[in-house]
Amino acid sequence: MVYLLPGVKFDLDMIQKYDAPAPRYTSYPPATELSEAFTATDFQAAIAASNQRKTPLSLYFHIPFCQSACYFCGCNTVISNNKNIAKPYLEHLVKEIEHTAAFIDTDRPVLQIHWGGGTPNYLERDQVELLWNNITKRFTIDPQAEISIEINPRYVDRNYILFLRKLGFNRISFGIQDFNRQVQVAVNRVQPEEMLFDVMSWIKEAQFESVNVDLIYGLPYQTRQTFRETVQKTIELNPDRIVVFNFAYVPWLKPAQKNIPQDALPAPQEKLEILKMTIEELTNNQYLFIGMDHFAKSNDELAIAQLNGTLKRNFQGYTTHAETELFGFGSTSISMLEDAYAQNHKQLKDYYQAVTLGILPITKGIKLTQNDIIRREVIMCIMSHFQLHKQEIEAKYHISFDDYFSHELEMLKPLEADGLVSLSTNHIKITDIGRLLVRNIAVIFDTHIRTQEKQFSRAI
Ligand code: SF4
Repeated sequence: MVYLLPGVKFDLDMIQKYDAPAPRYTSYPPATELSEAFTATDFQAAIAASNQRKTPLSLYFHIPFCQSACYFCGCNTVISNNKNIAKPYLEHLVKEIEHTAAFIDTDRPVLQIHWGGGTPNYLERDQVELLWNNITKRFTIDPQAEISIEINPRYVDRNYILFLRKLGFNRISFGIQDFNRQVQVAVNRVQPEEMLFDVMSWIKEAQFESVNVDLIYGLPYQTRQTFRETVQKTIELNPDRIVVFNFAYVPWLKPAQKNIPQDALPAPQEKLEILKMTIEELTNNQYLFIGMDHFAKSNDELAIAQLNGTLKRNFQGYTTHAETELFGFGSTSISMLEDAYAQNHKQLKDYYQAVTLGILPITKGIKLTQNDIIRREVIMCIMSHFQLHKQEIEAKYHISFDDYFSHELEMLKPLEADGLVSLSTNHIKITDIGRLLVRNIAVIFDTHIRTQEKQFSRAI
């Protein structure tokens, strides 16, 4: 299957017409569908079925701690400068790995590992080593595995970066958000330009194979001009991937956002102009639009995976290995198996209690139906490749696509008339104009969400 790397066209009228809240589709069904009716026993059965399939593995490890609160952040973090709190967490995390790994066929190769948070570099080096050794002791890590870590650039030095690379991490990601000091002060994340360039120089010196940075548009005091400077400095930093998140101001859901001066937020029209400028700057400077909010250089694995048809979404966003099953460890982490998802307890006390009792520390989950699995395939094709070959879905799931999705095809017709999709006997293709609204197109195939739109952010 050959996919063309996509371009993207910015059509303001269409964006304003169709931009409505929709899931980001890092999974289907979305994580909001996980329920407490799914128990640890159900998850154990799902792991046994996964073992039978012998699918390769991805592993995720969650470190929930941060030294200070960034006001835009909606993550479930524990803010503390008392590093002692990491000690009991690590003890429980190691116990969880030991206990859960006993259920998993660990002869299956691990193709991807990701440490996220929170702030994984909250851990001291001996703690990083302890966790690393427990992972490598219990799982079979493929020599070519992609092993990535998120770092907070404010709390890292050259030796720490070199240490991570020497230990075995080969991908790294850090948040810039915005270079502008006034914006940084307003969101309580001051990180001077020199610091960010230093961190990048250490990363290059350590020879990480891929570097990702995050930006956020829609923050207080941002204008098209100030954010243009941020984008240009980011291009100068020369990362392999750039993710440009849309800031959603929802202080009633994320209390830290109450510290953000609402009257300093860019107006909706300015925000759209900022996005348009960002896309133009990045795509004019050798970054390809991968999808949603991701950009990558043409030689980066994400762009290559899209070209090869192996790009997929999981709870971390776009990922290069479509064929793995994901096990998450640590508080709040989510496991994503072929036909079941499960999430660990969010509160540390609940997580600690379950681990101490020796039970899988999950709080909720979902067992997918065959209908969910078929719809997931359709939604992931749209989200990752911007096109879908009906015959491939028909051959894989023994359905007639046009009959099974007759309602959805009808719902797509107005979008076709507006130039967002092109429908043919064998294909559904998202046009260059539709690419920025891809989740508003994918949502048509989502039978779980149609009545719950308010829980999701807008695409733009
Ligand atoms: S953005 Fe990162 S460092 Fe800041 S509070 Fe959220 S998880 Fe912590």
